[in-house]
Amino acid sequence: MKCTYCENELDKEESKNPRTNSDGDIICDECFHEEYEEVCPLCGDYFEKGNPQEGEYYFAITKNDDCRVQPGVYVAVTFPFYIDNMFTQRVITNNVEKVGDLEGNDLNVWRGGRICLECVKKYGKEK
Ligand SMILES: [Zn+2]
Ligand SMILES: [Zn+2]
Repeated sequence: MKCTYCENELDKEESKNPRTNSDGDIICDECFHEEYEEVCPLCGDYFEKGNPQEGEYYFAITKNDDCRVQPGVYVAVTFPFYIDNMFTQRVITNNVEKVGDLEGNDLNVWRGGRICLECVKKYGKEK
């Protein structure tokens, strides 16, 4: 049994219960993570990328990020909420809302990025 994406042979564990995409194509664990999931920068768990709408996109800012906002957990209330081009990389502060703090944690070892809902519950208040 082969993965449709990378064409690698599925291992025993994977072929027992192979994952498929929405077209029913077989997909290995690695490609599945790659395609459909993201790694939460706070807890390191995989979570589904899904298709977050305005008000559902939660992310963390750590003090290492030069985003010109305070460290914390934020939700994007209006898209776009981030400028990333040749000249600047920053959060559009009018389009985001701070929902939680990351205080008491070692922010230096973390990087910012989209976070899972478990961490939203842990560090922020879900809207
Ligand atoms: Zn694959
Ligand atoms: Zn998390």
